[in-house]
Amino acid sequence: MQKLLITIDGPAGAGKTTVSKALAHRLEYTYIDTGALYRAVAYEAKLNGLEAHDDEALEKLCSGLEIAFVRGDQGLRLICNQVDITNRIRTPEITMLASAISARPVVRRFLFGLQRKMGKDKGVVFEGRDMGTVVFPEADVKFYLSASTRMRAIRRYNELVPKSEITLEEVEKDLKQRDKNDSTRDLAPLKPAEDAVRIDSTDMSIQEVVDQMIACIEEKSGEK
Ligand code: C5P
Repeated sequence: MQKLLITIDGPAGAGKTTVSKALAHRLEYTYIDTGALYRAVAYEAKLNGLEAHDDEALEKLCSGLEIAFVRGDQGLRLICNQVDITNRIRTPEITMLASAISARPVVRRFLFGLQRKMGKDKGVVFEGRDMGTVVFPEADVKFYLSASTRMRAIRRYNELVPKSEITLEEVEKDLKQRDKNDSTRDLAPLKPAEDAVRIDSTDMSIQEVVDQMIACIEEKSGEK
């Protein structure tokens, strides 16, 4: 079958990562977590002591960054300037900083080019916030995955290790703040593409979501 470019957008905790990985596996496609790219820039910004609104410094930082996903023994690793930073980008601090720097045009411009390059041969499942609206408006199949705020907070909380550092209520508060940042920013705000298939995963299992997506993909590829 002809290789497609598939996008999955939606708010944090909607299940995008698990579903995107499972879908890519089923289709034998590459999986790209674009949130990790924003987190990589945030991590490097912190390392260099940059302010989230210092566009000049961020631009300079981006121009010297080499970010890539590399398949290793432990799965897909995020390599930034030759250093494996996969395990350093999921702290609450980097999470909030990624949300802040993602509103800066210089950062979005830099990652736009990188993402376009990663998708040029198709056969990729891209997970993010603006994949179907801005980065790949021509994608073959677009999904918008959402779930209730409470359910998303519970899922995020269950992923956190160690749990003692933050309560479920704090996770929910951070999530609401990020939803607000991501959906109200001027540039590439989080919203469903007009032609996206919308799926609410609140009461669905991963398997059910993936099955529904596969059915949509088969239907769409039959139309082509
Ligand atoms: O998906 P994840 O939670 O790892 O993304 C971290 C942050 O990166 C999000 O809160 C969002 O602000 C930003 N992001 C974005 N556009 C994307 C992916 C992530 O603005 N395509």
